[in-house]
Amino acid sequence: MNSRPQPKRTLTAQLNALRTTALCLFAVSMILLCAFVFMLTSMGKVGGSSDETTATSETTTVPTTAETSATEETTTESTTEATTTGAHASYPADTKIIALTFDDGPDKCTPQVLDALERNGVVATFFMIGQNVSGTDASVLKRMVDLKCEIGNHTWAHKTLTKLSVDEAYEQLQKCDQAIMDKIGQKATVIRPPEGAGLMQDGLFKYSFENKEYVVNWDDVCCPKDWAKPALGDAHYTAQYVIDNASDGSMVLLHDSHQSTADSLDEMIQGLKDKGFVFVTVSEVLESRSASLGLTVEKATSKGWDSSMLMEAYPGGPVYGVRYAYVSSKLMFEERKKS
Ligand SMILES: [Zn+2]
Repeated sequence: MNSRPQPKRTLTAQLNALRTTALCLFAVSMILLCAFVFMLTSMGKVGGSSDETTATSETTTVPTTAETSATEETTTESTTEATTTGAHASYPADTKIIALTFDDGPDKCTPQVLDALERNGVVATFFMIGQNVSGTDASVLKRMVDLKCEIGNHTWAHKTLTKLSVDEAYEQLQKCDQAIMDKIGQKATVIRPPEGAGLMQDGLFKYSFENKEYVVNWDDVCCPKDWAKPALGDAHYTAQYVIDNASDGSMVLLHDSHQSTADSLDEMIQGLKDKGFVFVTVSEVLESRSASLGLTVEKATSKGWDSSMLMEAYPGGPVYGVRYAYVSSKLMFEERKKS
């Protein structure tokens, strides 16, 4: 008879033990959950500091193609850690970045250039002439977008802006953007004035400011001058010149109208990869290296735009937030000589 109550007590005890264990497990899991949530919140705060706080409204806009391209490159380049600031990715100083740029197209070699970019898994920026855009099949421009390349405005008719009135310059840029818009439903994000001339032209200033398009020239130091001999007609020379002279933040001036330039790309890209370069868009160079490229609000304010206006338009502030920037080859060169 003793054996009967015993199992009952054991069962009750077991049930109690089980209940206690369940309660303990519940409590522990709640603590762990709280800790996890706290950790996530803190990480979010740390990640959102500095650069990202400067981005504000721009970060909330639809991510651009360039941003996704940077993300993809990061996965292939193990040493690269790009973080998102503004509309584009930002690369740390210990990563060597470079932007290949092709002016004056679309032209006969543009499809070959795109083939080379795709084959090598890299991006570039195309500064296109509006007239050429309007005479080109939309599929060519769509392919640039598909390959995560950046679209640049090189005026409607390749006019030297210093020879135009303010209104004429403005119209040249507007018409080019409209031509691009008609083909792919989006306008350019960067501007390069023909011949690199007229960086302080008011029409250019006004248009780029209103449309938040960076104004950039190129890096003279690594420019192979592919429109003239010895680079013209010599793919190997063109490739080697860029490989030998490129440095972090270089924007390489090339033209997709020259066969030798198109032919140089496989060798050029491989050589640059061997030297550790990561290929990015022009906007990404600007947003990652603006501090070292000599881009300052002073350049803009010297033309009469007051800094509060710039701050209002680009709440990020004077360095990362200001999308309007002058990068002349001279400025870059001088900045590099200083360092
Ligand atoms: Zn040009």
